[in-house]
Amino acid sequence: MNVLCTMAEDLLNNWEKKSAAHQKEYKRFLQRADKNKALKQLPDLHDKAFEKVDCLQCANCCKNYSPRFKTPDIKRISKHLGMKEGVFIEQYLNLDDEGDYVVKTKPCPFLGTDNYCSIYEVRPSDCERFPYTDEDVLLKRPHLTLKNSSFCPITYFVLEKLIASK
Ligand code: SF4
Ligand code: SF4
Repeated sequence: MNVLCTMAEDLLNNWEKKSAAHQKEYKRFLQRADKNKALKQLPDLHDKAFEKVDCLQCANCCKNYSPRFKTPDIKRISKHLGMKEGVFIEQYLNLDDEGDYVVKTKPCPFLGTDNYCSIYEVRPSDCERFPYTDEDVLLKRPHLTLKNSSFCPITYFVLEKLIASK
């Protein structure tokens, strides 16, 4: 194990408590960050975070939050399941306050007990992009990033590293 690995593991120990304690710092950082510098760092930090965190041991996103099911998602997934779009919507989705289709039940009905997604190949694009740690969304939508940092260790890891390199 090299020094970097040890540091990354230390960073992830008790990450929920540390993330809760650092929310104000994250907020300040997201308001004032040098966006160009941060954007250049994101691809590497995103890859490092996914090396350190096993989503299959976590699944916090799939257990507690719903992606938006946009029209192309609904078309693709219902076709994959051999269902009519209307039947798929009726069975699995509700409209939320913002007019987006989201899952009716939590955890997501497509999450297995082993934390695998049963529609992984055709999952909604929100799921494919989550937690946006390799996109400018991370900097452009600070409220979303802060919320994600409270339950997603990958978001937490990337924010901590961005702040440490200021
Ligand atoms: S919450 Fe973050 S770390 Fe956990 S499964 Fe989702 S993307 Fe992976
Ligand atoms: S569709 Fe799959 S990846 Fe998306 S929330 Fe449900 S289980 Fe998770």
